[in-house]
Amino acid sequence: MRCPPLKITFLGTGTSSGVPMIACDCEVCSSPDKKDKRLRSSILVESDATVIVVDTSPDFRYQMLRAHVKKLDAVLFTHPHKDHVAGLDDVRAYNFFQQKPMELYANSLTEETLKREFAYAFSDKKYPGIPNLSLNTIDNAPFIIGDIPVIPVLVWHLKMPVLGFRFGNFTYITDANRIEEEEKEKIRGSEVMVLNALRKEKHISHYTLDEAVAEVQGLAVPKSYFTHISHQLGRHKEVNASLPKGIELAWDGLEILQDGVKDNP
Ligand SMILES: [Zn+2]
Ligand SMILES: [Zn+2]
Ligand SMILES: [Zn+2]
Repeated sequence: MRCPPLKITFLGTGTSSGVPMIACDCEVCSSPDKKDKRLRSSILVESDATVIVVDTSPDFRYQMLRAHVKKLDAVLFTHPHKDHVAGLDDVRAYNFFQQKPMELYANSLTEETLKREFAYAFSDKKYPGIPNLSLNTIDNAPFIIGDIPVIPVLVWHLKMPVLGFRFGNFTYITDANRIEEEEKEKIRGSEVMVLNALRKEKHISHYTLDEAVAEVQGLAVPKSYFTHISHQLGRHKEVNASLPKGIELAWDGLEILQDGVKDNP
């Protein structure tokens, strides 16, 4: 299947607390460098016809304002953790202007959480002004939103299944610390991939910087960006300079342009 040319925008590249973290005065949180200011992790994927956001972070409203997103066709969810779902209520603005429900794509685990945490939006008696949501259950099977084909990639966040997504030759994975060989096949051949790299010290459910480097090198993707970054990782400038060729830390506002793909894998 054909994938049109895409523009990917990093709306947020920070871990669950964001950077700076509330009340922290470490050198990263007090850095004047714009690249050391990270909202919670999310990306925007756009073709000429279709606009998709991956996750609705607690910063969703500000992210949409900051990136001037006037139209939104769908939300793809990676997993049900709060830093990836908390901003969902604010899709109301798109309901209002687009006069239709917002299409949500989530696995059954995430769906369960959405129904619990946003119960008011799924109740039979709908209060006026609440978000109008349409749930589409996804699993590992490819699907299409507008003109953008989406290939889910199952990864593991300790014991929680998380969905990464491949769009054409671009693959986005956050909140993982393990990828099974079979799923790696879906990533191979990507021109650009994004992977989470929390910090240098070991973590129970996130890749460390070294683990993330090893993973992307093993996949032989020519260009990789790391996201979901903690203030504990260090300042962008220094950490970025220490990375091997072809690997960079992502930053809020980073845009990636992808050519169209004739035969999407
Ligand atoms: Zn997260
Ligand atoms: Zn800090
Ligand atoms: Zn998580």
